[in-house]
Amino acid sequence: MKSVMENPILHNNAHPCRFCGKPVRGRSDKLYCDVTCKNGFHNLAQREDRRDVQHIDRILKHNRKVLKSILGTRPKAKVHKAELIRRGLQFDFHTHVQMHAKRENVTCCYEYGYLSLGGEKTLVVKIKV
Ligand SMILES: [Zn+2]
Repeated sequence: MKSVMENPILHNNAHPCRFCGKPVRGRSDKLYCDVTCKNGFHNLAQREDRRDVQHIDRILKHNRKVLKSILGTRPKAKVHKAELIRRGLQFDFHTHVQMHAKRENVTCCYEYGYLSLGGEKTLVVKIKV
């Protein structure tokens, strides 16, 4: 019969728990003290994931709100880029880029988008999804 030290499955070297950092005893491939630490680790990871997604979602939804408020009920409207900036549009955040009728790329936040008309002028449009 092998001793505990010779059998890797029964290896008794403690390593830190991935969640609480306390020494884990038992099998060498065991990652957590117990099921509470395992669940805690995964819940924390999911919470951080959600927080990152929520942060970006908030910016995208704000950008959509800005574009929607500029259009009102109109299908398109010309606006100075400065006005979009003043209303807090963050140009680095968009959902997709879609080809417009005149083969121009429209930067979209959901069903609203904008494209540069050159210089400081921008055209805001509602797109078909
Ligand atoms: Zn633990």
